[in-house]
Amino acid sequence: MIILDGKKTASDIKEEIAIEVANLLDKGGKKPHLAAILVGSDGASETYVKAKVKACVKVGFESTLVRFDSNVSESELLAEIEKINRNSSIDGLIVQLPLPKHIDEMKVTEAIIPEKDVDGFHPANIGRMALNLPTYLPATPAGILELLERYEVETSGKNCVVIGRSHIVGSPMSILMARNNNPGNCTVTLTHSRTKNLKEITKTADILIVALGKAEFVTADMVKEGVTIIDVGITRVKSDKTKSGWKLLGDVDFKGVKSKCDFITPVPGGVGPMTIAMLLKNTLISSKSQLY
Ligand code: NAP
Repeated sequence: MIILDGKKTASDIKEEIAIEVANLLDKGGKKPHLAAILVGSDGASETYVKAKVKACVKVGFESTLVRFDSNVSESELLAEIEKINRNSSIDGLIVQLPLPKHIDEMKVTEAIIPEKDVDGFHPANIGRMALNLPTYLPATPAGILELLERYEVETSGKNCVVIGRSHIVGSPMSILMARNNNPGNCTVTLTHSRTKNLKEITKTADILIVALGKAEFVTADMVKEGVTIIDVGITRVKSDKTKSGWKLLGDVDFKGVKSKCDFITPVPGGVGPMTIAMLLKNTLISSKSQLY
């Protein structure tokens, strides 16, 4: 069993990015610049945005954080996005989700010009991904592909089962694993809450990608010997064994399944750290105008 170490791989990628940034600056170029918009003060969103800003500083990017109260109007938010769209010194823009209920998330996603959509959520970029055209891949799926590639996990001709069909993880993952690429070329089954006989399906998986948000949902009896498991889930549960009083659990019963796996991602330290690394990579690509 080999652990797909996202923490180490993300750290390697950040070092590679930092070297590229230093080279860009040496040649008289400018620092890549990521702008993030945060609405409200939700604890998890604060943590994610702070981690993104910190990562920008670490690799030598410039970053701008724009904060709004949770009662900001949709039009005010759209006006700020428009301003950043027109600001040529900013290469990438992300709006931390979820947004308050009175704001239409899809309208906000579509307002970011595809050229600066480094989260890869804009319908134009999702379409380009589906057509296998150069684009910004959504960060979490991109991080999973990067892990599979760097650990040389064979995907061609394999059965890949994805649990969960969210727009940010499950759906794009199913498209990416089916594309005529490496990693890719899988025979993909996308499952969700209406899927019948899930266990029969997961037992056919050579590669199982789990993103449903239910702690330790996948158990040893649901997988076959030699499977590769990518655990995307993050659930915070109370713990009397940690200093903080909390611990993170994945969607997979890691201890129970690991002896059956060829490869597996841990939680924490698997997919999570890769997500930010890929956001930085997309911003670097944008700053070099390599896509559009
Ligand atoms: P989500 O929007 O929470 O949706 C959950 C998906 O799981 C839905 O498609 C749902 O089906 C499906 N589902 C729920 N119960 C199921 C069941 N019993 N059997 C099969 N499918 C079931 O998904 P998400 O945003 O991708 O988040 C999933 C997890 O990944 C969460 O724990 C989240 O925190 C984590 N996450 C981690 C990262 C990272 O960087 N590591 C990034 C994003 C998300 P329906 O569509 O039918 O409702």
